[in-house]
Amino acid sequence: MKFLSTRNADLKISGRQAIVKGISDDGGLFVPEYFPEFDIGKNLDLSYTKMAQKILSLYLTDFDKDDLLELIEKSYSTFEDEIVKIAYQKDYYLELYHGRTSAFKDFALCLLPNLLAYAKKSLGIKEKTLILTATSGDTGKAALEGFYNTEDIDILVLYPTEGVSDIQKLQMDSTDSLNSKVIAIEGNFDDAQSAVKKIFNDENIKADLKEKNTYLSSANSINIGRLLPQVVYYFYSYADLVNKNEIKCGDKVSFCVPTGNFGDILAGFYAKGMGLPVGKLIIASNDNNVLTDFFTTGTYDVNRDLVKTISPSMDILVSSNLERLIFHKSSDEVVREKMEDLINKGSFSFDGDFSEFMAGFANKKETEEAIKKVYEDEGYLIDPHTSVTKAVVDKLGLGKTMILSTASPYKFAASVLRALGENPKEDEFENIRTLYEKTQVKIPREIRKLKGKKIIHKTKIKKDKIATEVLKFAGRGKRIAVPATSANLGPGFDALGLALGLYNTCEFRPSNDKEIFEENLKENLIYQAYKYSFDFYKEKQVPVSFDLEADIPVSRGLGSSAACIVMGIMAAFDIMGRDFDKKEILKIATSIEGHPDNVAPAIFGGAVVSILENNQVYLEKIAISDKFKFLALIPDFRLSTKEARGALPETYPKADAVFNISRVAMLVLALESGDENNLKIALQDKIHQPCRFKLIPEIGKIEEIIRDSRALGSYLSGAGSTIMLVLKKDDQISEKEIREKLGKLSKTYDLKALEIDKKGAFII
Ligand SMILES: *Cc1c(COP(=O)(O)O)cnc(C)c1O
Repeated sequence: MKFLSTRNADLKISGRQAIVKGISDDGGLFVPEYFPEFDIGKNLDLSYTKMAQKILSLYLTDFDKDDLLELIEKSYSTFEDEIVKIAYQKDYYLELYHGRTSAFKDFALCLLPNLLAYAKKSLGIKEKTLILTATSGDTGKAALEGFYNTEDIDILVLYPTEGVSDIQKLQMDSTDSLNSKVIAIEGNFDDAQSAVKKIFNDENIKADLKEKNTYLSSANSINIGRLLPQVVYYFYSYADLVNKNEIKCGDKVSFCVPTGNFGDILAGFYAKGMGLPVGKLIIASNDNNVLTDFFTTGTYDVNRDLVKTISPSMDILVSSNLERLIFHKSSDEVVREKMEDLINKGSFSFDGDFSEFMAGFANKKETEEAIKKVYEDEGYLIDPHTSVTKAVVDKLGLGKTMILSTASPYKFAASVLRALGENPKEDEFENIRTLYEKTQVKIPREIRKLKGKKIIHKTKIKKDKIATEVLKFAGRGKRIAVPATSANLGPGFDALGLALGLYNTCEFRPSNDKEIFEENLKENLIYQAYKYSFDFYKEKQVPVSFDLEADIPVSRGLGSSAACIVMGIMAAFDIMGRDFDKKEILKIATSIEGHPDNVAPAIFGGAVVSILENNQVYLEKIAISDKFKFLALIPDFRLSTKEARGALPETYPKADAVFNISRVAMLVLALESGDENNLKIALQDKIHQPCRFKLIPEIGKIEEIIRDSRALGSYLSGAGSTIMLVLKKDDQISEKEIREKLGKLSKTYDLKALEIDKKGAFII
């Protein structure tokens, strides 16, 4: 399969090349040279990922089929529970919002980065990719998650200060990946979008970037790698209807799609082209009804104001993917002509056969009414985008239709509440709570976790400053992240530790200022570890500067010094040009720290058992089950290491030793199996905790609070002072309640929910 440009059909490039390029040099979009057949009748029982592999490999013929399946499975493993759900209501709702960012864009944006990284690697492309994306809300976060810490790909997202919902803002601004930056631009979406387009066409900037060995690409839906994954769910949902005996195979089904940039609906057109029995494809718009006008009059006219609606992801005037449809209905020559018209006059006319399409729009009142009606009549909750679609289905008087449901109602809680006749509050989390209490519809995990997330991105600029920001971003040094660690896990004194999703990060670069470097060396552990590594390999040290962002609290038993040591070593490895051999890094880190308890999990991630003997570190990783989560109870006081060590006896009764041996063996296995009863028993310790707990003021009261919580157990992290609670993953414990109880104690405690870090330290 080759891909052509909509503005030059003689150009023929491979799938991998089309994905890497994103957009053709002639300004056109890549399209497949034909639609391959896919017989759904013969593929009714495929899983989602298998079906995706089959369909995508018809297009991406230059991807190895097994590799493709691996990429697909990895990408969709980020979804909560099922990948797609179909709700059988008066209409069918194809719920496409169970990905990490609760919008349908996850379908393409979890996969595109993996396709892109694969394509780059297999084509031998070494340059850095800088993804530059303007977003009206959903694309930005889906792209940030999709490209989360992807090697050699950085991402800069620009969202307008007007029109993006509070939840969408918070989702983006709290993104903590090392390869991302999020910037708010004063103005509306069109301002952000046009500013980005200007950058893409600015030869000076491109030349500057090239000097930095970087090329620009986009995550917007012009990339063919975003379009193709969306074809799959049309087939999959059709198969579901057949399998549930709603229809017979071969019966036609109509799909109604909330439309903005025309990507989602175009994927339906591709599915039809591949042989799916599609009745009508219905384009649903909000008050920005440019497309309805086009499909009814034949004239596409953007000479109008963009209206701000309650379905902001559809607030678009120029639907980029329409260009692809025009091409499929005509030729590259016609496309060139129409796109010229669009630029010069803001409009074009096209007379084609669009009999497979219908179009309609719904205003705010109709949208709100549809939310209310569907909820009151059917007990089913939909978001404003899906509701626009439902309203259009009813307005057009269509029969039972497959409605593409593109976002979770919780992303737009205020609008949904208002539609249901409630008075939303200023605080969006309160609205989410109210919506939950009213409807009992499950809140998506990632939205629940947003509350209390740290705001990382705070840059707000005028649009004429974008170029400066892009260059600044592209010129950054390398970055390292090292996770916090919790050693002495339960009975595993001096042996068992794990890495947690809390990080010290830094940006570093070689520096000319030797004096400052020497100064830093005197007291900063990162610099010392850096220098130690050079000395270790007898290399001449290169002065360096670190810009540290430390989130791991110091001297609380969470491995903050281990993190600094690992960071310094990794920077040294990078500057010396050494491979990041984890065992080698561990060797040096252990010789600096004196023991591997914290540095081992910090480097390897997950839960590890480590033993130091004769200067050699032995290490095993535990395949820790996903059934547990951790809650750190971090006091505002430190335990002195000396005192903590001094508290331990020289010898132990045999009974205590035996007690710990059995517990630690059980602990390792229970961490793997996920058996909570065994874990409960296995978390007990008689070696260091009984003595050390005595050093913690009010320990009796704390233990009582822990007992009353639903924790499976707890332990002193490292040598304290943090106490770590181990909980069942899906236990809805009340952090608020624990916090309130802790508030009554004389010391102050911070409570932090932490996940296990599985990756360990990494550099980008
Ligand atoms: C992006 C988006 C749409 C529009 O999809 P297009 O492919 O741009 O037409 C509809 N609903 C939601 C929630 C979206 O995020």
